Amino acid sequence: MNKNKTVAVVGAGIIGTSCALWLQKKGFSVILIDPEKPGSGTSSGNACTIADYGCVPVNSPSIFKRLPGLLFSSNSPFTIDAKYALNHLPWLIRFLSNCRPARVARISRILGKLLLKTYEGLNPLLEYSHSQHLISQQGCMYVYKTERDFKKARAANQTRRDNGVIFSELDAADIRDLEPGIKLSFARGILFDQASQVINPQSLTTRYIDCFQKNQGLYIKQRVLTVMLEKDSLKIMLDNGENLDADRVVIAAGAFSRQIKGVGTHYLPLDTERGYHVQYKGLESLLNRPVSWNDAGFYATPMDEGLRIAGTVEIAGYHLSKNPRNLKYLIRKGQEMFDLPEKPDQEWLGFRPSFPDALPVIGHSLMSEYVLYAFGHHHLGLTLSGITGKLIAELVNQEKPSHNIVPFSPRRFL
Ligand SMILES: Cc1cc2nc3c(=O)[nH]c(=O)nc-3n(C[C@H](O)[C@H](O)[C@H](O)COP(=O)(O)OP(=O)(O)OC[C@H]3O[C@@H](n4cnc5c(N)ncnc54)[C@H](O)[C@@H]3O)c2cc1C
Repeated sequence: MNKNKTVAVVGAGIIGTSCALWLQKKGFSVILIDPEKPGSGTSSGNACTIADYGCVPVNSPSIFKRLPGLLFSSNSPFTIDAKYALNHLPWLIRFLSNCRPARVARISRILGKLLLKTYEGLNPLLEYSHSQHLISQQGCMYVYKTERDFKKARAANQTRRDNGVIFSELDAADIRDLEPGIKLSFARGILFDQASQVINPQSLTTRYIDCFQKNQGLYIKQRVLTVMLEKDSLKIMLDNGENLDADRVVIAAGAFSRQIKGVGTHYLPLDTERGYHVQYKGLESLLNRPVSWNDAGFYATPMDEGLRIAGTVEIAGYHLSKNPRNLKYLIRKGQEMFDLPEKPDQEWLGFRPSFPDALPVIGHSLMSEYVLYAFGHHHLGLTLSGITGKLIAELVNQEKPSHNIVPFSPRRFL
C-alpha cells in the first residue's frame, strides 16, 4: 500500500539519504531532492567517527570560566565573528543558558539514550546498501596532554560512564604502543574500544544514493524553494519553476533547513557551528584509529584517502568565506602532533546544523502531520544518521516510534 504514497525528502546529506533509504525499505515511493551532489556538503568533510560515545555536548558548565581564553587566545579552537554574534545574540544566549549543569546533564541523558540506538539505525542501511567495507572498527581515542587536563575531563568522562559508555583509561606508554605515529607526548588517554569510523563519508553517501536509485528511488538535482500545503497533499516548488506533488515531505537540509519556505522552519533557532578540516594525502598510516586531542578541539582520522585533521567551532554564519585562522590552527596543531608536510592537500569548511540545546529535531512539524523534520544534528550527524532515518520512516508509516522522540520535538522551542 505504501507504494502508492510518495514521500519527498529535501536534502541529500547523510541525514536525508538515510531517511530516504529507510522510507524505501518500508515500501514508500521516495523522491530525494538536492541541488548538489548527494553527501558533498557538511556530510563529506567530517571527522568520520561513529561517535556513539559522544553524549557530552559542546555546551559545558566550564564554558563560563573558559570563555575569555576561548574567545581571545590565538591558540583556541573556537572563533566567533563579533558582528555576526551581535546580530544573533538570542541563539548565543540560549546556547549559554544550556551550559548550566542541570541542563547539560539532561542533554547528556537524552543524547546518551539515542546514541545507544546508533547501530540499530545504521547497520540495516549498511547491509541494504552493501557498505560494510566502509566501516572500520579499531576504536576511537581521546588524548590529554597533561595529567591536569585529564583530571579536568573527569566530570565529562564520568557523565559518559553514567550514560553507559564503555572505555578504558590509558597512560603515556599505552598511547605510544597503540599509536606510534603520534610524535607529541600525551600523559593520559581514553579508548572507546568498541567504537568505529567510516573510512570515507562521501563514499558512504554515494553508496546510499546508488542503492536508492537501483531500488526505484528518484533523485532530482534541484533546490526546493517552497512547500505548499494543499487539502490532502503537498506541492513542492523547485528552483527550475517545476512543481512536484507528494503525500509527505521530510525536511533534511541540514544547516539550511530554515531557508525552505512554507514548512514552518523559520521560527526554529537553527544556526551553524562552522567546522574545518585539512587533509594530507597518503599519510593515513600515521594512525590506526581516530584520535581526538580533546582540549584542542579536533580529531585526527585515518581515511582511505589520507589523514584528516578535522574540528574547531566558528560562529560566523553562512556567508563568510573560510577563516584562515581556523585552518592555520589545525595545520599547526596537526604538525605538533605528527610529522606532516608544511602544506595540506585539502582545506575544507563545513556547516554543522546546530540548535542551542545540542539536540536535533526529529519528528512532525507543528504546522502539519504531513511535514516532518530531520535536522540539527550538530557534531553527531554521521553517527545519528541511521537512527534518525529509522525514526522518521516509522513516523511516516504511522508506527509507534521505537525510541522516545518527545525530547526532539520542535515544540520545545515554543
Ligand atoms: C569539522 C566537522 C567534523 C565533524 N565530525 C563528525 C564526526 O566525526 N561524527 C559525526 O557523527 N558527525 C560529525 N560532524 C557533524 C556531521 O558532519 C553533520 O552533523 C552532518 O553532516 C549533517 O548532515 P545533514 O545531512 O543534516 O547536512 P548536510 O550534509 O549539510 O546536507 C544537507 C543537504 O541539504 C541540501 N540543501 C540545502 N538547501 C536545500 C534546498 N533548499 N533544497 C534541497 N536541498 C537543499 C544541501 O545541498 C545538502 O546536500 C562533523 C562536522 C564538522 C563540520
